[in-house]
Amino acid sequence: MRKAGGRRNAARFFLSAPYLSGFVPLVHLLFASCILGVMALSLRVPRPVAADTPITPVPSLVQNKRVAQVLAAIDQFGSWTTEQQILLCEIPAPTFQESARGEAIRKLFASAGLRTRTDSAGNVIGERPGLSRKDAILISAHLDTVFPPGTPIKVHRDGRRLTGPGISDNGAGLAALVCLARALHITKIRTQFSLLFAANSCEEGEGNLRGMRKLIETFRGSLRSVVAVDGAATDHITTMALASRRLEVALTGAGGHSWADFGMPNPVHALTRGISKFLVTRVPDSPRTTFNVGVIQAGTSVNTICGRAVAKVDLRSESEAELDRLEAALRKSIEAGVGEEMAAAAEAGHTSDPQIEIAFRSLGERPGGELPAGAPLLEAIRQADRHLNNQSRLERSSTDANIPLSLGIPAIAVGGGGRSGGAHSLCEWYDPTGRELGVKRILLTILSLAGVEP
Ligand SMILES: [Zn+2]
Repeated sequence: MRKAGGRRNAARFFLSAPYLSGFVPLVHLLFASCILGVMALSLRVPRPVAADTPITPVPSLVQNKRVAQVLAAIDQFGSWTTEQQILLCEIPAPTFQESARGEAIRKLFASAGLRTRTDSAGNVIGERPGLSRKDAILISAHLDTVFPPGTPIKVHRDGRRLTGPGISDNGAGLAALVCLARALHITKIRTQFSLLFAANSCEEGEGNLRGMRKLIETFRGSLRSVVAVDGAATDHITTMALASRRLEVALTGAGGHSWADFGMPNPVHALTRGISKFLVTRVPDSPRTTFNVGVIQAGTSVNTICGRAVAKVDLRSESEAELDRLEAALRKSIEAGVGEEMAAAAEAGHTSDPQIEIAFRSLGERPGGELPAGAPLLEAIRQADRHLNNQSRLERSSTDANIPLSLGIPAIAVGGGGRSGGAHSLCEWYDPTGRELGVKRILLTILSLAGVEP
């Protein structure tokens, strides 16, 4: 049972690979092993944002001949990219079952010259080594969808409009990654920092950001910035991570007959007593904080005192401290509800019935965090937006970027371009009109950070 805030969560991560995977020279490995101990000691402290990293200004970046070629290639690859998006989206990828779609994208990464591998979390990683191997920019898009196995996922085309579950979330993100990788490959552009492309697992639902957690664990020592590509829209930059916790509370008792055992402790009664106490918890407007009892499961028949009652509760806040407070209120309310039920049972003469037992279980946790206003990553995407004439606003949301942001690693989440609607529904749609803008925006941002060979 966890009861940790985001900062304490940082301690769970450890460094397993200080440098990028692949064919690392022996001297690097020796050097890495020497500094490993020092770095491991510093891991409990969030890594400071690399504010000292200079970016290449976008206006001068676009003067580079090869950068111009990559931008032109993105324009040329429009229909190819849409074809890949459809192929990928027609391969089922429910959370925890992403491997078939992952293998398809691994082949696309490989054909774009990336060094590919799949890690133990099901992340497909495509590495594009830079001139300096020790620094890297991670560009990720989640593989998984919210749709259970068996959902019809054929993509229907009506003019430019595509309809199908997951076509935008995250078909648009995956398509942006393969388009970028191919455009970079065809122009043979060299970057200073390495570029790590990752189609990651477990972003949705109860995946609990497992894929991104693993990527950060693996590459933490070399990561300078993370760009998570999720959905289509180009009108936002997610720089603030919304923290959330999902908890299950299960109450168990002896159970009995509604008439014969009337008065004995009833887990449903105890749960409803506890929840009604919790519902009057005051939450602030700022930092915005919310709660929801989303699922209640209990009972076998109407004339049975059931043996077990379960509730699933979602807690969200712009502040970790408010989340701590809210979780404490939930626990206290449930304990008080059980206490009242036991007292009522004792009053009814059921003094020897067993105590209702309380078990809390974490169903997932997304730690909070925020990209500082002066971060080079933010400056890079703002310059890209200015160059492309794109209007965008800063946004708080719950995405893969939560994990790096919670550890002090500069990160944003953005869309892959195009238009979309109906996310997480069977009528989800995507229109690639304007996709190029989204892909170019990501390209200029990562090249501004990674640096390009003159
Ligand atoms: Zn998504």
